[in-house]
Amino acid sequence: MHQTEKETAELIKQISGSDVKKCMKCGKCSATCPAYGEMKFHPHQFVTMVAHGKVDELLRDETVTRCLSCFACVERCPRGVEPENVVAAIRVLAEREQGGSNFVPDEVPALIAADKEIPQQALVSAFRRYRK
Ligand code: SF4
Ligand code: SF4
Repeated sequence: MHQTEKETAELIKQISGSDVKKCMKCGKCSATCPAYGEMKFHPHQFVTMVAHGKVDELLRDETVTRCLSCFACVERCPRGVEPENVVAAIRVLAEREQGGSNFVPDEVPALIAADKEIPQQALVSAFRRYRK
């Protein structure tokens, strides 16, 4: 059964153990984040998005992987919200959705066409994974 966006947000809360509703939007987490310029959504934003049940865009956002897991946001937060735990939970769910792959079967032909020097091992791995 397909999971709704709100259900996914609940799952992120469960996995992270973070009480996102305690966030008072002070922005201290984002102000201290060393990956601020690298990430599309910043700590105070993804905490708010999860609290509001708006997580589909977060799960599609590849820049979330640029989080350095430095825990600066966790240390700085005056409300104990622990934004890093939220990012970690988003990563877990994104990986589950992709089945541990960085691309889906339909994308493979285009990847090969675009990169003539794609390693043979990558093709063999894709073939093994997707022929079942
Ligand atoms: S743990 Fe990630 S989100 Fe938090 S401050 Fe460090 S880089 Fe930024
Ligand atoms: S530091 Fe904590 S309370 Fe402030 S915006 Fe970030 S998560 Fe919310």
